Amino acid sequence: MFAAGPVLGSSGRQSGPVPWPHGQITVRDETRSYGQDVRAAITAWNSAGVHVRLRLVRGSAPADVTVREVPRETLKQSCPKRDCQGHASNLGFRGLPERIELLRQGPAGFHTPFRTILVAHELGHILGLGHPPGRACAIMTSHVAGGCPAPPVGWAICGPLERDVRAAGALYGSSPRAYAPVCPISGGPASGARPPWRQLASGRWAGPELPEKP
Ligand SMILES: [Zn+2]
Repeated sequence: MFAAGPVLGSSGRQSGPVPWPHGQITVRDETRSYGQDVRAAITAWNSAGVHVRLRLVRGSAPADVTVREVPRETLKQSCPKRDCQGHASNLGFRGLPERIELLRQGPAGFHTPFRTILVAHELGHILGLGHPPGRACAIMTSHVAGGCPAPPVGWAICGPLERDVRAAGALYGSSPRAYAPVCPISGGPASGARPPWRQLASGRWAGPELPEKP
């Protein structure tokens, strides 16, 4: 379902990403309908073994990053690409509050793995990651995981993939750990279900449709 997706993400400035200096980035969610996706995306990045922590603040507390939900006309001003669904104000740290804008769509409580990786993609820009070239299997491609083999039926990518984790690890350091970047499409918790993809001790991903590499 991701192979022919539209161009979804974009980023602001493209030069010289600087890692955030304190190992923690605070995030304030001001969206109406992305709340679960923001929480899931933060959890996904925090579970991936990268030595940086995203922390959701409560209410209107100050934060490094504010996530907003905007109409298409507003999003177009910062991301004119057709079908753009999200935008991050900068790659990495510049000593200023940053902003993520997400396309306003869906009712409150609407939550899907795709929306989660859209948020995770924009958070990846905030961490300092750009778009990898070509058709890499990564949530940081402009097509957001469009270059990945399709996960098994009933599952969808919902967190950073090996290439994303390595890119973030190059900025912050990382410790390979078991982490499954897939969620049931139904949106419910994967209770009892074994995630079909796993991370090997080497840090590489293995699964039914992503063969183990030497
Ligand atoms: Zn992007």
